[in-house]
Amino acid sequence: MSKASLQIQRQILSELADGRFHSGQKLADQFGVSRTAIANYMHELAQLGLDIYKVKGKGYGLVAPLLLLDALQIKQLQSTTAAPVLVQHITDSTNLQLMQKLNTTSSLVKATVIVAEAQTAGRGRRGRTWYSPYGSNLYFSYYWRLEQGVQAAMGLSLVAGCALCSLLRREYQVDAKIKWPNDIYVDNRKIAGVLVELVGQADAACSVIIGIGLNIALPESATQHIDQPYADLKQSSEMSIDRNRLIVQLQNELTMALSKFELQGFKPFQEVFNQHDVFSGRMVEISGTTAAGGICLGVDESGAILLEKDGRVQAFFGGELTLRASE
Ligand code: ATP
Repeated sequence: MSKASLQIQRQILSELADGRFHSGQKLADQFGVSRTAIANYMHELAQLGLDIYKVKGKGYGLVAPLLLLDALQIKQLQSTTAAPVLVQHITDSTNLQLMQKLNTTSSLVKATVIVAEAQTAGRGRRGRTWYSPYGSNLYFSYYWRLEQGVQAAMGLSLVAGCALCSLLRREYQVDAKIKWPNDIYVDNRKIAGVLVELVGQADAACSVIIGIGLNIALPESATQHIDQPYADLKQSSEMSIDRNRLIVQLQNELTMALSKFELQGFKPFQEVFNQHDVFSGRMVEISGTTAAGGICLGVDESGAILLEKDGRVQAFFGGELTLRASE
């Protein structure tokens, strides 16, 4: 899409964001394009995951008003010393964008964040896709630097998961749970995923990118894109949700958690995880680079998951493992 078209797409969205109906003809006149062009823009927006309705005689409207991400508002909500939050419209993946920024900026400020309204190539682990429709969720990537090197990164996705879980519980009164090693669940349905990516060598300082996808208000069409039970914050919480505020809260929460992790290691997070372990005391199966089953006993001091079978407890660690309930 050309720059000019992208700009029109954005402006149409700002119009639709109020949740009211907008006549196709008026929009066409406003942006100096044909009605067919407006219909195409609407089609593209629907492809990005927006629930757009067309009602004869009224025009186009969104199913609900949309509070768009706003860089200025985010800045006003931040403390004066907070690291920058960069807001993008539609991007491939916020983790990729932050990685590129890291490669092109000589000294990226620790705790810098990139957020986007939509991702066209949102990623999960092992090349899986993170469904990232426009305007209603959080696609958030956060930069950190571990002076102790890659070795110190063990347990990092759990630390990020614990931070997000605590934030959702405290500020949004949600019964959030953590699924080892990288997801957040509500009512046994996935509401968020964490994807940690590392750049660096074992012995030198290493750069860390923590990607978080958090569902806020998934469109109805999400069922066609997500092949497991999912949840979103809007349906799980009775509190009002402002994504701009949530971004600032999450940036702060991660900074506090990572500073603690740097000083004290995983130990302080062991209890947080074990209190909110989605599989606590349940029969589970582990798969990936290894396969095993047993009763889930939570994590040890290093963040390894403990499974008990026939009275024997085994610890498992590694970014490529998946845990599932087996009952
Ligand atoms: P699993 O969740 O199956 O145990 P995983 O932790 O490796 O595996 P992730 O890489 O975190 O999974 O996320 C990718 C998977 O999450 C997708 O394959 C899909 O099943 C699911 N998914 C994708 N997008 C969303 C979304 N927006 N909300 C909830 N779940 C999603």
